[in-house]
Amino acid sequence: MSRVFVITGPSGVGKGTLIRQLLDRVPDLELSVSATTRTPRAGEQPGVDYHFLTDGEFDRRIDEGDFVEWAEYSGRRYGTLRSELDKRTGAGIPVVLEIEVQGARQVRDTLPDAVRIFIAPPSAEVLRNRLVGRGTDPEEEIERRLRVADEELAAQAEFAHVVENDRLEDAITELQQIVCTSLSA
Ligand code: ADP
Ligand code: 5GP
Repeated sequence: MSRVFVITGPSGVGKGTLIRQLLDRVPDLELSVSATTRTPRAGEQPGVDYHFLTDGEFDRRIDEGDFVEWAEYSGRRYGTLRSELDKRTGAGIPVVLEIEVQGARQVRDTLPDAVRIFIAPPSAEVLRNRLVGRGTDPEEEIERRLRVADEELAAQAEFAHVVENDRLEDAITELQQIVCTSLSA
């Protein structure tokens, strides 16, 4: 069974940015494409950024047992499809899941060998500035995400690895080190 890496942390902390660079630096590593009921942002492509599902489709996939984990986040549902994971682990390809904290907790129980990494912001103010600066979410959505972030930050002690994303280059180096150490073990 190949390695599974779970990367979690509050929205806007830089998970996506770090993972893009990690995938460039660790050539064998692949990202599992999640399913969601939220609407695509400008530029997001179905099947690449997410599998965008209707509520009915998401319900059906739950009933059919297609999810390794799923959670409600900011009024929408997000989940990891078993097929996304199995096609990679079955071929010996290490895989990254980029998921929120409730999902990461479920993976702790269902995939106990997964390496779970929490990405933390240097401060609450920096987190807010990054969410605003990203320019993808309206103000009320940012406020909702920051309220969730308070709970998520309180959960970081549950994770074996915590990487602070202050200087991007330092955070990538640390993340790469955790991943490569685990892959060579
Ligand atoms: P997430 O995937 O966790 O929601 P993103 O990767 O979308 O977060 O990052 C949120 C914003 O913060 C983006 O605009 C990104 O360019 C910026 N960002 C990420 N990491 C850093 C960093 N270390 N320093 C400054 N800005 C960063
Ligand atoms: P966004 O709407 O910004 O793309 O994602 C919102 C949150 O959902 C982020 O914290 C992201 O990591 C999380 N997320 C994305 N895919 C999944 C998934 O498959 N499962 C879970 N539990 N969370 C996910």
